[in-house]
Amino acid sequence: MKTVLLGVYSNRAVPQSYDVAILGAGPAGTACALALRGAGLRVALLDKARFPRDKICGDAIPGPALKALRQLDPAYATELLAGLHPKAETRTSRVVAPNGRGLGVRWHLPTFNSPRLHFDAALLALVRRHTATDVLENFTVKTIAGAPDAVTLTAPDGQQLRAAILIACDGANSVAARQLAHRQIDRAHHCAAVRAYYTGVAGADGRTTEFFFLKKYPAGYLWVFPVGGGVYNVGFGMLSKDIATQGVDLKKTLLELLGTHPQLAPRFAGAQSLGPVAGFGLPLGTGRPAHALAGPRWLLCGDAASLIDPLQGHGIDTAVRSGILAAAQAVMCFEAQDFSATFTQQYARAVQARLGPQLARSYRIMRFLGNKPWLVNAGVRLAQVPPIGRWLQRLVG
Ligand SMILES: Cc1cc2nc3c(=O)[nH]c(=O)nc-3n(C[C@H](O)[C@H](O)[C@H](O)COP(=O)(O)OP(=O)(O)OC[C@H]3O[C@@H](n4cnc5c(N)ncnc54)[C@H](O)[C@@H]3O)c2cc1C
Repeated sequence: MKTVLLGVYSNRAVPQSYDVAILGAGPAGTACALALRGAGLRVALLDKARFPRDKICGDAIPGPALKALRQLDPAYATELLAGLHPKAETRTSRVVAPNGRGLGVRWHLPTFNSPRLHFDAALLALVRRHTATDVLENFTVKTIAGAPDAVTLTAPDGQQLRAAILIACDGANSVAARQLAHRQIDRAHHCAAVRAYYTGVAGADGRTTEFFFLKKYPAGYLWVFPVGGGVYNVGFGMLSKDIATQGVDLKKTLLELLGTHPQLAPRFAGAQSLGPVAGFGLPLGTGRPAHALAGPRWLLCGDAASLIDPLQGHGIDTAVRSGILAAAQAVMCFEAQDFSATFTQQYARAVQARLGPQLARSYRIMRFLGNKPWLVNAGVRLAQVPPIGRWLQRLVG
């Protein structure tokens, strides 16, 4: 593709056309850029934000995300962990059933929590350090147009960037998912959640993630996650369908629960909130994609592809893993010089094969447990028996 200058962007001249445009520099986009290292392709990584930027999240970084980065290059994981502050290393969880009974869980893979403000900036720093990717911040994409020879991304000010293939990692409100895959929000497969940061939470050890299941709000949970430096990410999320039917105001409900729940109220009585309660959507995976994940010259990854685990609400791991799979597909497209919808379907099949079974299992469990708080009570009681506890732990991941 001929190189034409797009203009001075981020204080330097950048070309107007690339081999690969990655839209969105969250976990999916940065993992994709890292996986394209050494592929010999001209890659642009665009984001509407300037980093470090906040992302509303529980900030629990699932073990498989780090494992996938380590598999790309062990240095990615080592450097990420060494340079990331603050963070809280967490190996244990506490699950509190609707009846108040608690259960301690020890996880197999070491995991950690870190505010996305810092975690995502650290991922982007890896991209800058290890790859020749052109990182274009403050670049909002408003429209995406496909053509036989390229995809064109247009910003609100009319600036355009062309690429032979688009890898869309632009999150839960993805422009690409809407304009290319015609995704619409399906409330039965969508969650909404809110979170706020607190200090001074009593009875927390800084190393344990806590999940509270609630009788009144069965298809959801409240969490208290340490994120390092004595700060806690405290949030509450529910299935969007139930939010609509029950008319729940998530922000108000979170504050009410912190003030009234028999176990939480005494612990939060002296806690200080560090900012407002903020919310965002979670497009859930079901193991059977409800919309296309790929088409002619485009692939969707992470939240744009609706890959969040429906049981626990984590999506950083599936974002990273799908970003890496998309990079492999892009390389295959260039090798075969085939960008057709038929060829890119290999990517959708790879996502289905690698991530589908876990998502489908979580979706079944979520549906099964969703309106049966008594079953969660029974599960927590039974899990006190070690072999049953180990089996249940394997079941929920
Ligand atoms: C309240 C809440 C709690 C959660 N808790 C957890 C948790 O604890 N652990 C976990 O694993 N997951 C959690 N998730 C899910 C997790 O946040 C997402 O699955 C994850 O961020 C997906 O990564 P991504 O790269 O696909 O998208 P994102 O991280 O959303 O990144 C998308 C990027 O695209 C950019 N962008 C968007 N639109 C445009 C545009 N038009 N033009 C240019 N750039 C654009 C954005 O600025 C952003 O940087 C939570 C989600 C919510 C809402």
